[in-house]
Amino acid sequence: MTPDQVRGMLYGLAVGDALGVPYEFKGRGTFHCDGMAGHGTHNRPAGTWSDDTAMTLATLHSLIEDDWNVDPSDLLARYRNWLEAGAYTPDGEVFDCGLTCASAIRSGRGSTGERSQGNGSLMRIAPLAIRHQSDEAIRAASAVTHAHPHVMDMCVRQVRLLERLANGWTPDPDPRPEDAIRSGGFVDETADAALWCLADTGSYRDCVLAAVNLGSDTDTTACVAGAMAGIRYGYGAIPAEWLKALRGAPMIEALADAAVQGL
Ligand SMILES: [Mg+2]
Repeated sequence: MTPDQVRGMLYGLAVGDALGVPYEFKGRGTFHCDGMAGHGTHNRPAGTWSDDTAMTLATLHSLIEDDWNVDPSDLLARYRNWLEAGAYTPDGEVFDCGLTCASAIRSGRGSTGERSQGNGSLMRIAPLAIRHQSDEAIRAASAVTHAHPHVMDMCVRQVRLLERLANGWTPDPDPRPEDAIRSGGFVDETADAALWCLADTGSYRDCVLAAVNLGSDTDTTACVAGAMAGIRYGYGAIPAEWLKALRGAPMIEALADAAVQGL
């Protein structure tokens, strides 16, 4: 990945997350997102990112500190520091955490249950695409919270998609109508919806707005779509007014700088 792609991916996912936060859990068609807004579902100021970006930054920080090796115990410690102490957040406050993540972080055991096939690990694994990681390492990073085999496979698939985008791959157009796209919290729905948004739009802006406007798990769909669009279109394609509104940007900047050292 080039330095511009790394920055595009990291800012792209954080901006997507922040765009979606005010509308999380709202039904499709009950709102219209056309830019960075405040308050809404979690009553946060405009530009506030949520668990998706916080856990992504924790993952990235762990990789940087451990010479790009996946160390599940270090990941768990950083996720705990986020959940219990508000690390990797703009305000030191955690206002959004999925049930599977919360129970796994507290118990130290990733869930293998049939009902634990949510998007809580998919949303945070983008940094694993910066430098090559084995399938086994990607599965181990998911398993800190989400150890169901299907979720781990989906994380491998998503990291490989990000790598292909970085190598110039363009997804084929996806002719399915919006009605055919589900945007809830299951890992399959998020991966599919995010790729549909990328395939059927022509800019970073249109991709993440399409993701938010699908409704339901707005922040996570837009976070996953935003990582892909950020790689595809580059940092310079992210609207300047959204970057300006993004809170906690110095934290992203410091980690992005560290990530691109020696690429
Ligand atoms: Mg969230």
